[in-house]
Amino acid sequence: MIIASPIEFAAKPHQPAPVLPADARWSVAAVEALFALPFLDLLFRAQRVHREHFTAGEVQRSTLLSIKTGGCSEDCGYCSQAARYSTGLERERLMPLDEVLEQARAARANGSSRFCMGAAWRSPKDKDLDAVIDMVREVKKLGLETCVTLGMLNDGQAEKLADAGLDYYNHNVDTAPDYYPEITTTHTLQDRLDTIDKVRAAGIHVCSGGIVGMGENQTTRAGLIAQLANMETPPESVPINNLVPIPGTPLADGATLDPFDFVRTIAVARITMPTSYVRLSAGREQMNDELQALCFMAGANSIFSGERLLTTHNADAGNDARLFERLDLVSI
Ligand code: SF4
Repeated sequence: MIIASPIEFAAKPHQPAPVLPADARWSVAAVEALFALPFLDLLFRAQRVHREHFTAGEVQRSTLLSIKTGGCSEDCGYCSQAARYSTGLERERLMPLDEVLEQARAARANGSSRFCMGAAWRSPKDKDLDAVIDMVREVKKLGLETCVTLGMLNDGQAEKLADAGLDYYNHNVDTAPDYYPEITTTHTLQDRLDTIDKVRAAGIHVCSGGIVGMGENQTTRAGLIAQLANMETPPESVPINNLVPIPGTPLADGATLDPFDFVRTIAVARITMPTSYVRLSAGREQMNDELQALCFMAGANSIFSGERLLTTHNADAGNDARLFERLDLVSI
């Protein structure tokens, strides 16, 4: 549902636009107007909104582990794990509990507060869900928050995860509604929204975001952000991913996004979802320190740490430590 914003944003050079109330809803046009602000005005405004709701310099860190890799029946055009694409990825079975716990302990030792477990399934079978539920219970005992991403949930599955104490469920909307069929055809956006509704109804926090750099234009990026910001309760966690092109996938050879448009997307997410954690996610390994600093300035306050993001490389842990020190950032 798109609801007109009560305030129009005429971009006035060197004058920051007025701050919207936190509960205002966003039209795509209003979000596009934010994207069109002069870059420094947009960053200034995003930073101001950020400081109204969060402590500047505090960055939440999550570690993401692939607990079941490859062989997925779906056709998401960006994904290395879709069985139909020749990406060279080895298909793996569900990881045993002791290996998961070993990785979770390492994540905790490296400063992560949340441990995210991802499985490449269209939907989890009930016996697989039971195994994941054991993982959730045991990881929580380590004092970590838990998040899982398992695909679409059937009736009753979200409640089982909630009973196990799951803190977050990740299910990205990926892109704007009208662009979704360009990226995926084996399920619909509505299927994904239905799962997000089930997660919400079960009382689990929602982690949902999207991917930019998939050949979309600025209106599409505005449509993605409006869709997230207009959810009845916006996601508590909003990962913004920059496409990492995977050879063998349909999106392997697309044009690269202007890095400043990535920063703009972060800033617009921050302004439109002022109380959400906005996570600088996939693509961080390809960013230099200066670009990451701009993302933090634009309101990103969450990252993935660890060597891998499911199947792609992530930013180097040593470099992250140096970057946090140089920028006076604090892990939470
Ligand atoms: S559903 Fe998930 S794992 Fe499967 S192809 Fe899509 S993004 Fe990849």
